[in-house]
Amino acid sequence: MNRLAVLTSGGDAPGMNAAIRAVTRCALDRGWAVTGVRQGYAGLIEGGEHFVSLAYQSVSGIIQQGGTILGSARCPEFMTVEGRQKALHTLRAQGVDGLVVIGGNGSQAGAWELAQIGFPVVGVASTIDNDLVGSDLTIGVDTALNIALEAIDRLKVTAASHERAFLVEVMGRQCGYLALMAGLAGGAELVVIPEIEVDPEEVAQTLCAAHDMGKSHALVVVAEGARYNAEALAAYFRQHQERLGFELRTTIIGHVQRGGAPTAFDRLLASRLGAGAVAAFARGETGVLVGMIDNRVTTTPLARVVGRQKPIDPELFALAQVLDKP
Ligand code: ADP
Repeated sequence: MNRLAVLTSGGDAPGMNAAIRAVTRCALDRGWAVTGVRQGYAGLIEGGEHFVSLAYQSVSGIIQQGGTILGSARCPEFMTVEGRQKALHTLRAQGVDGLVVIGGNGSQAGAWELAQIGFPVVGVASTIDNDLVGSDLTIGVDTALNIALEAIDRLKVTAASHERAFLVEVMGRQCGYLALMAGLAGGAELVVIPEIEVDPEEVAQTLCAAHDMGKSHALVVVAEGARYNAEALAAYFRQHQERLGFELRTTIIGHVQRGGAPTAFDRLLASRLGAGAVAAFARGETGVLVGMIDNRVTTTPLARVVGRQKPIDPELFALAQVLDKP
C-alpha cells in the first residue's frame, strides 16, 4: 500500500470526522500516504481538486466536530456502470491503492459495486439510522439519539404544562431504531416504527387511556419511515378530533438530529472503526465493512451487508410496550 484514500458519503453523521482522523493518522503511522476525497462519490468521479492530500495536521481539532470536513453528497451518477468506471479511472490516475468509504447503507452498496470491479475498498459503518448489518451500533446514532432525547424531554415539560398530547417524529429512514430507543429512554406513551404496523385508532386509544389515567401529558414517538408517520397521524387526528376530544401537537425534529457534536461514545466508536479499516487493509482484507459487534471491531463481507436491513430487537420493542403502557 502506497496511498490510501478516504471519503464520506450519503447522510452525514456526527463522528464521521473522528473516523476520518483515525483513518488518516493510522495510515500515516504505517508510512502510507493519505488522500481525502471531497463530496463522496461525486468527488471520486470528478477527481482534480476533489482529491486532497491529508497530513497529520490536516485532521487536527476535528474530533469534536459534527458533520464531515470532506463534505458528503448523494451521487446518482455513481449508480451507473459508466459513473463507477469513471471513478475507477480517477482512483488509478491519482495513484490510489485502496479506498475507505465512511457511510451508511447506500454508500456501502456503492463500495461493494466498486469492490466488484476490482478496486480494494473497506467500508466504515456510519449512519444515524443504525440500519446496517455488520455493526451493533453505527457511528452517529448515539449522538442523534441524545439530541432526539433532549427535544423529547423539553416537549414533555411543555406538554405537561398545557395538558396536551404531543407527537414527535424522529429520523431513521426505514429503520425504527432511533424512534424505539428515543421512546424507551424518553418515557413515551407509545412508539410507532416502520417494522411494526400500527392502527392510528390504537394510537388515539393509547392517548385517551393516558388522559383518563390522569396523566398530564402524553407523548408518542414516531419514526419518519412508519406508514403512519407524523403527517399521516396528525391528519387522522384532525379528521377525528371531535370524537377523540383532544388535539395533537406535532414536532418533527428533522435534520437538527444530525448536527450535534459527537458524544464520547461516537468519538470512540469512530476512532476504533477508522483504525479497524486501516488494520483491515494492512492484513490485505478488503471488500468488507468494519463495524462493532459485541464490543469488538469486526469485519463483515460487504456482500453480506448490502441489500439487507438490521432488524429491530423484538425484546426491546416488548420492553417499550410494558414500560410505556398508560
Ligand atoms: P447512505 O449511505 O447514508 O445510506 P444514500 O443511500 O443516499 O446514503 O447513498 C449514498 C450514495 O451512495 C448515493 O448517492 C450513491 O452515489 C451511492 N449508492 C447508493 N446505492 C448504490 C448502489 N446500489 N450502487 C452504487 N452506488 C450506490
